[in-house]
Amino acid sequence: MTDPRDVAARATAGFRQVYAEPPAGRWAAPGRVNLIGEHTDYNDGFVLPFALPQRTVAAAAPAPHDRWTVWSELTGETVAFGADEVAAPGRVTGWAAYVAGVVWALRAAGHPVPGARLAIASDVPLGAGLSSSAAIEAAVLTALVDLGGLDLPAEHQPRLAQRAENHYVGAPTGIMDQSAAIRCRAGHALFLDCRTERVEHIPFDLDPAGLTVLVIDSRAPHRHVDGEYAARRASCEKAASLLGVPALRDVPSTGLDDALARLPDDETRRRVRHVVTENQRVLDTVALLRAGAPRQIGPLLTASHASMRDDFAITVPEVDTAVEVAHAAGALGARMTGGGFGGCVLALVEADQAATVAAAVTTAYAERAFTAPTHTTVTPATGATRLD
Ligand code: ADP
Ligand code: MG
Repeated sequence: MTDPRDVAARATAGFRQVYAEPPAGRWAAPGRVNLIGEHTDYNDGFVLPFALPQRTVAAAAPAPHDRWTVWSELTGETVAFGADEVAAPGRVTGWAAYVAGVVWALRAAGHPVPGARLAIASDVPLGAGLSSSAAIEAAVLTALVDLGGLDLPAEHQPRLAQRAENHYVGAPTGIMDQSAAIRCRAGHALFLDCRTERVEHIPFDLDPAGLTVLVIDSRAPHRHVDGEYAARRASCEKAASLLGVPALRDVPSTGLDDALARLPDDETRRRVRHVVTENQRVLDTVALLRAGAPRQIGPLLTASHASMRDDFAITVPEVDTAVEVAHAAGALGARMTGGGFGGCVLALVEADQAATVAAAVTTAYAERAFTAPTHTTVTPATGATRLD
């Protein structure tokens, strides 16, 4: 019997059932949360995600010719495509586009991708802002790289997976999600400079410190996300051009007041203040973690939330409530994580307080007649790996 909690076992069982043979290997890639650094990526700034224990597993084996077949437990469907469909973004649609997109991006970069049979299982929640999309891309990408013996070092893989999502699937995401899914290390957060793509692994080992991160899915319906996201991006680009810099990353926090004085309206000033102060908060968080003081990052998380709420205007009542209540119930810090207008909140808590904090949020949601939230505790896990 397959243990239903064991994602890798489910991927293997799916593979055997669909292809009537065992897989040649299994590759896993995690979901992620962003500890701090929101809406800084497209401003060439800094982010600090870490990988979740929840992951997507691809069981895979090579197949003859340029032919790819993929089954996902998610839908129970098997989708097959060949070189012609892969060559034209848009030919493979729906969930299998994430897989076809990876094959497309590899071939477009000149890699001799082998044909393959794949079976996918996952326990990363979909569409909750925990990046199930990068997890499936990274699991499939690392499987194909290994099966084909392709010359593609890990540091070049995130850009390729991002291209799959941007150009084949058609979702305009930054480089953070794929970098986290591929490059994170257990017990560390990934300090990523979105301009240079340089990464540094920052110790964030919570167990020895008696801490944990509580992730609360607000279950708030995403409202106007695409339009609002585009509007925030446009505001930031306009402000950078008014200030005569390539991106808001180039406004140092020490130059913030001068920059604000040169901007024409209150809304633009607020948007700029969020990005500049948020970049600084990432740097401050990194400095505290490097110094071995994870408890002390709490106020930075909470300040990040206030900035997203008051200056960047991307929160909704459900996430504001979760942050306020978590704080009142003893969290060391809390913030919305992800693009905004719903999604998840993370709270840094003493490990033995996690249940109390989660219960307080659940009660507050019931009192306000919000949809009941879900929650889980997480510690930083590893990026994409071959399992066997
Ligand atoms: P998020 O990345 O925040 O979870 P996205 O909308 O970016 O949300 O990506 C979710 C989409 O990725 C799903 O709708 C589906 O098409 C695809 N996907 C993710 N995981 C799987 C999976 N295990 N099997 C099939 N498709 C998946
Ligand atoms: Mg995604």
